[in-house]
Amino acid sequence: MSACPRPEGRATLVGAGPGDPDLLTLRAVKAIESADVLLFDALIDPAILDFARPEARRIDVGKRCGRHAASQAAINTLIVRLARGGAHVVRLKGGDPFVFGRGGEELDTLRSAGVPVTVVPGVTAACAAAASLQIPLTHRDVARSVHFVTGHGADGTIPAHDWLALVRSGGTIAAYMASRTLPRMAAELMAAGMAAATPSVAIENASRANERRLFGTLASLPDALAAAAFDGPTLVLIGAVVSLHAETAVPVMLAA
Ligand code: SAH
Repeated sequence: MSACPRPEGRATLVGAGPGDPDLLTLRAVKAIESADVLLFDALIDPAILDFARPEARRIDVGKRCGRHAASQAAINTLIVRLARGGAHVVRLKGGDPFVFGRGGEELDTLRSAGVPVTVVPGVTAACAAAASLQIPLTHRDVARSVHFVTGHGADGTIPAHDWLALVRSGGTIAAYMASRTLPRMAAELMAAGMAAATPSVAIENASRANERRLFGTLASLPDALAAAAFDGPTLVLIGAVVSLHAETAVPVMLAA
């Protein structure tokens, strides 16, 4: 119990951004500072927890991007139980809670349990990657839209996106959780008419000290990414805007 018990517990779903603590919002920092309990997983950089009070409880609910419903259900139950006990529970989510973060499921559980909940937005991986590489996701005259898509379907297969619509839109594609399914995604996009030479990049650990980038084309990137064996969180950007990237001091690998 905290030294100053609250009459009523509450929960805050906090978008913790892509990793670098500098990319937390002020509101996220304030929520972390006022937490009695923090729940976090593998996408959260340990440095972010340093903003919490020393006496705040830190619970590692460690799992990578929603592996199965049972552990998500256990997390939901835990947040409700802790908040009902009078705590301010901060659930830290990588990036933004509502972009492939299962924040919506946690929100549903908290609402039905009658626990007051607020949501703090965060910098999503696509925006962090774009900033790091200096790729304007919707540069005027180059891309009129940006599409956040997942490469992770229900049973490990690729989801049934409307590939034709995606290609026809001419927008930039930001693919989350797509490392393993990139060969299939690239094949679907090319079958739907996207040029094999479309500039593409995979960025691992965007915004972190160990960030790595791999440039290529829609046709070359899948094999190059498999060979590079990135094992950290990786985002893939596909579209003409990728060619506008800045050369920087960070190592850049090129796949012809
Ligand atoms: N809510 C998160 C996404 C969670 S899904 C967000 O808004 O960013 C997990 C996927 O996000 C990873 O598989 C990867 O595709 C992407 N991701 C998260 N953090 C990343 C990072 N620092 N660098 C690259 N990709 C990242």
